[in-house]
Amino acid sequence: MINFAQARNDMVQKQLVARGIRDPKVLSALGEVPRHLFVDESLRDEAYDDNPLPIGEGQTISQPYMVAIMTELLGLRDSDRVLEIGTGSGYQAAVLSCICQWVYTIERFPFLSERARRITSVCNYRNISFRVADGTQGWPEEAPFDGIIVTAGAPRIPKTLVAQLAPGGRLIIPVGNRFSQTLKRFTRRDDGDTIESFTGCRFVDLVGEHGWSPSFFSEWQH
Ligand code: SAH
Repeated sequence: MINFAQARNDMVQKQLVARGIRDPKVLSALGEVPRHLFVDESLRDEAYDDNPLPIGEGQTISQPYMVAIMTELLGLRDSDRVLEIGTGSGYQAAVLSCICQWVYTIERFPFLSERARRITSVCNYRNISFRVADGTQGWPEEAPFDGIIVTAGAPRIPKTLVAQLAPGGRLIIPVGNRFSQTLKRFTRRDDGDTIESFTGCRFVDLVGEHGWSPSFFSEWQH
């Protein structure tokens, strides 16, 4: 049995600080959230490794560095409300909940959403709302959001999500083909929207009306 607190601290230093993550709020959130509780018991000892891990339904919990850089790019303030598409394990939602006012998170698989709800509640993260739906539609009843984070790979930036950004709001999303994407930040500004590109990455598919269509083969493979 490994020392999880020690492993988490090493993760922050060697995977995040060493690669240029600087936001103290992001470093402290990843230094606090017990990532090992968000993976299957059989994978706990690997929870702080430098890679994604399977979480069931053919989906993955993202690599710690990817969680950190996406969170840092959101540039969150305490008072911000954030929408996440792709709840998965609930880990990214827990990290966000440490550094903003409220997190709204959408997952298409009921099983994953239910499990994430249970774990975050056990860990006492109270400022998260869960929904099972196609997240490419956003969450219109709660819009606009100061930040939107899409944790699955998209063919293009969904217009529906852009429309749910507050003025000054940021949307972080991996955009590309099904095998590799580029992390993008869309910022809504009165004097003209901007799109910036960051690191290359590889995410599971964003499947939905404004994402990829469900392919029989990939769903069947899972
Ligand atoms: N943020 C997650 C990583 C999840 S992997 C974590 O911290 O563990 C991406 C997730 O996006 C998968 O669970 C997948 O089922 C979900 N997903 C894909 N397309 C979706 C859509 N249109 N709406 C909601 N969730 C979606």
